[in-house]
Amino acid sequence: MVNQTWNQYVVKKGNKNIVLETIINNSPISRADIAQQTGLNKGTVSSLVSELLEEQMINEVGPGKSSGGRRPVMLLFNQVAGYTIGIDLGVNYLLGVLTDLQGNIFYKKKITYSELTYEEIEMRLFEVIDELKQAAPKSPYGIVGIGVGVPGTVNNNGEILLAPNLGWKNIDLKTVLEEKYGIPVKIENEANAGAYGEKRFGIGQDFDDIIYISAGIGIGVGLILSGKLYKGSNGFSGELGHMTIQANGFKCRCGNEGCWELYASEQALLNEAEKLGIASETNKRITLEDLIERAENGEKETIQLFEKIGYYLGVGVNNIINIFNPKQIIIGNRAASAERWLKKPIEKLMKTNTLWYQHDDIQVNFTEQATHSAALGMSALTIEEFLEPWDGMVLSQDG
Ligand SMILES: [Zn+2]
Repeated sequence: MVNQTWNQYVVKKGNKNIVLETIINNSPISRADIAQQTGLNKGTVSSLVSELLEEQMINEVGPGKSSGGRRPVMLLFNQVAGYTIGIDLGVNYLLGVLTDLQGNIFYKKKITYSELTYEEIEMRLFEVIDELKQAAPKSPYGIVGIGVGVPGTVNNNGEILLAPNLGWKNIDLKTVLEEKYGIPVKIENEANAGAYGEKRFGIGQDFDDIIYISAGIGIGVGLILSGKLYKGSNGFSGELGHMTIQANGFKCRCGNEGCWELYASEQALLNEAEKLGIASETNKRITLEDLIERAENGEKETIQLFEKIGYYLGVGVNNIINIFNPKQIIIGNRAASAERWLKKPIEKLMKTNTLWYQHDDIQVNFTEQATHSAALGMSALTIEEFLEPWDGMVLSQDG
């Protein structure tokens, strides 16, 4: 009896969402095929499809292929029913994308900066969001949400507890943005966002156990375990940039010593370059882009520097492999642009230092720069939240 009630409840709650999901994943599809695929009866499918059409979540298109008989009208997900804004807020850059409901980028904006205060970054963030908002075509639902990935620890309420490389502590950016724009806002750690972006739209689509390493000014790690984003009980997982890889090593801002990010991040690379006296021609501070240019010109000292960073990336990757037994390691964020010099030392260290039964089937990939993992991941999370009510609306009819 209890079981039966539970089953009825689950079925009712999910029907409309199941129909919508089936259309999203199989567009174009006929009503009959939806009924067949979902096991729902044709009448139920028909009435739910009518509701979805009225809500402009789906479209009808001309007759599809038929094996004899009348050709059916096909249904398509209306991916431009609304748009999302996904932001990757880095220590020294801000990247924003405007996407449709399937993660296709319509417009993007990137700016770079260095050493700005919170207020200054907030101002830049508003400017980027305003520009993306203006670029959005007219649609039934407009901008359905804003997602911001930040390099710091974010709790389950979207509060940024600590972003050491930005110097932020207890920042409630979610409320700030919700009050200013009046639309739902999601804040997430940028490594979690990047992991999710690669799983949904990028090179992680074929794998269920993925470690995404976001190596920028600091290092964050996003975990996809059994196909799902793993966040820990309070949302604090993935602080692996602060695992100790050197006992009695450099002192870290987090209070620990010998943290991984002090040896394998963009900041580590820049610090080492300065120590070696590799200077920028323009008298400004040396940047990753300067160093990549030097390495491309065959400058030995710089190439060795990248290889050293690659070695330390490998040391951390090795630890992570032994903890999680992943199928895929994705190196993302700024470090991905130095793949040419980082990949070999990482793979070499994996071969020599990882337990023999682990390394055979692990794939190491670098993100393609054009994928914008973290910004797209925030779009994906925002889209999911937007689609949730289709679940809930049916639920409420349930009483
Ligand atoms: Zn640390």
